[in-house]
Amino acid sequence: MTGIPRDHPRYESLITREKIVEGVHMGITSHQGLGAQGRGEAFDYLIGERTTGSAAVAERAAVAWILRASNPVISVNGNTAALVPESLVALADVTGATLEVNLFHRSDARVHRIIEHLRAHGAGKVLGSRGDRRLDLSHDRGIVDEEGIFSADVVLVPLEDGDRCQKLVEMGKTVISIDLNPLSRTSLSSTVSVIDNVTRALQNMIQFAKDMKSDSQENLQGIIDSYDNRKVINDALYAIHERLKLQSDEMGIQWI
Ligand code: ATP
Repeated sequence: MTGIPRDHPRYESLITREKIVEGVHMGITSHQGLGAQGRGEAFDYLIGERTTGSAAVAERAAVAWILRASNPVISVNGNTAALVPESLVALADVTGATLEVNLFHRSDARVHRIIEHLRAHGAGKVLGSRGDRRLDLSHDRGIVDEEGIFSADVVLVPLEDGDRCQKLVEMGKTVISIDLNPLSRTSLSSTVSVIDNVTRALQNMIQFAKDMKSDSQENLQGIIDSYDNRKVINDALYAIHERLKLQSDEMGIQWI
């Protein structure tokens, strides 16, 4: 894909960026998706490009919710389709969740290209092309499928837009977001806020799902009941604070 050497200190980050650019060239990622990726990279840098302990707790709780759900749906946008198609398909397979394409900058052609892209990565049924229901939103992320997001009880929304996240919560759904920005409207309004890079978060969630798949309903409910989302958001902010402080100390800058 690129000439980026494997030993480059920012190899993972640069490869991720290349995948988004390739997604734009393939017509599955919007140009605006490049901006969203940039904002994500900045927060990942501040978090330390790692899964924090608290993010892992959120990922485990997210999997418990998905395994407990009767109609869980994974919402796929142009960035996640470009970055992690295999992981989206694998998570849907292991949990029994349904994939649905949902785009802010929607066109039928782009929806179909993403569906084909997911199929090329092993997906079976992928929803999103019907768009037979509309949430009360002025933009196209409000267009959903009746049998998918509209009737879902649990929706996983990696890289969501804040408006729709709030709308889904208002509709009584359990919303699990994956967003590196702990202060986004999405993170602040989700039931479970996974503050981690989608590339790491989905890998972790697939492993949790494999491990927890045969857990009893009581065990899964116990994980859900003991989960505290406010603490997870606080911990992410603390992780950023600590990293900035450490960096300042190393540079001899006084941290107020
Ligand atoms: P909100 O409407 O929730 O306040 P926003 O306007 O900042 O959010 P968008 O531009 O719609 O959000 O979406 C980009 C969001 O996705 C950003 O919060 C960014 O941190 C996050 N993001 C981008 N790339 C990644 C990634 N690879 N992993 C996790 N999060 C990411």
